[in-house]
Amino acid sequence: MARMYYNKDANLNVLKGKKVAVIGYGIQGRAQSLNLKDSGVDVVVGLKFRDDYWKQAKADKMDILGIPEAVKAADIVMMLIPDEVQKMVYDAEVAPNLRKGMTLDFAHGFNIHFKLIVPPSDVDVIMVAPKGPGALVRETFLAGNGVPALIAVHQDHTGKAKKTALAMAKGLGATTKGVIETTFKEETETDLFGEQADLCGGASELVKKSFEVLVEAGYQPEIAYFEVLHELKLIIDLVQKGGIEGMWDNVSNTAEYGGRTRGPKIIDARVKENMRIILKDVQSGAFAKEWVEECNSGLPTLTKLRKEGEKSQIEVVGRSIRKMFK
Ligand code: NAD
Ligand code: MG
Repeated sequence: MARMYYNKDANLNVLKGKKVAVIGYGIQGRAQSLNLKDSGVDVVVGLKFRDDYWKQAKADKMDILGIPEAVKAADIVMMLIPDEVQKMVYDAEVAPNLRKGMTLDFAHGFNIHFKLIVPPSDVDVIMVAPKGPGALVRETFLAGNGVPALIAVHQDHTGKAKKTALAMAKGLGATTKGVIETTFKEETETDLFGEQADLCGGASELVKKSFEVLVEAGYQPEIAYFEVLHELKLIIDLVQKGGIEGMWDNVSNTAEYGGRTRGPKIIDARVKENMRIILKDVQSGAFAKEWVEECNSGLPTLTKLRKEGEKSQIEVVGRSIRKMFK
């Protein structure tokens, strides 16, 4: 079992006299900046563009600097911009301004684990990754608690990297709910696998294939949409609340018998084999390499897939069904 850390295991005094530069003011950047500031941490936001994020930071009365200036002023630098642009921004604006003994803090391990960003050996490199979207990170903090988080230490120059990570997690409110220690490798690989195999990739394909089977068998697309897509959330809410067994307790006996006996026929040994292939691609770095090349060439495959997705029958039907719920 993984070790859990709580409020009593983390000390905010570790951050006394230190300045934290939050690079980016988006989904995570805003929530984390506000929580840290409310926890008494000295925060400056580092932004490149005078965009809507900049306006939001202004409206929130944050101190704002350019990225190089924010890094120069800081002891701890949090990289909270999209993973695809981190390497470029790091190389050009962060790295030249790092000083010995500083801390670099990430919310996802991708760039460090796949060595797209290679920090100098005389800085600490940590991860503090809240396990929830930014809005929830802020909402729960305002309600007096937080969202659980993962922490990891990639490089410990000062010998205090873990204490810093725990203090940052506390400032975000995460230690109220519990923090689990992981590694950059484990966080990155499980995150990529989860979003490909099960969450985004697997779940969406399961819905699409179920829809296609019903429609191709002559059922009305609207009915199929309700059944295989709309209701999925109700089931997933039950799974999140009470685990898989808790879900079975809350559906009809017919659904339980049919699901327990037929589920393994749908997601069979071949699917598990496919998942292992996906995991190998994640572990070997083949997926990361492919994704970096896709980004560098202007997202040709993703653009094509998005266009196809928009035109698909399930989306066309979905657009009209979803209007019924507005
Ligand atoms: P985001 O897309 O919300 O980031 C937006 C910010 O990045 C803005 O301030 C924008 O100005 C800036 N930005 C965008 N492109 C830029 C560029 N080329 N140069 C400089 N600045 C640029 O990002 P996010 O979703 O908050 O993700 C930040 C990090 O947090 C990522 O590592 C991500 O994996 C991680 N994370 C996100 C979530 C989430 O809820 N979205 C959850 C856990 C971890
Ligand atoms: Mg994830």
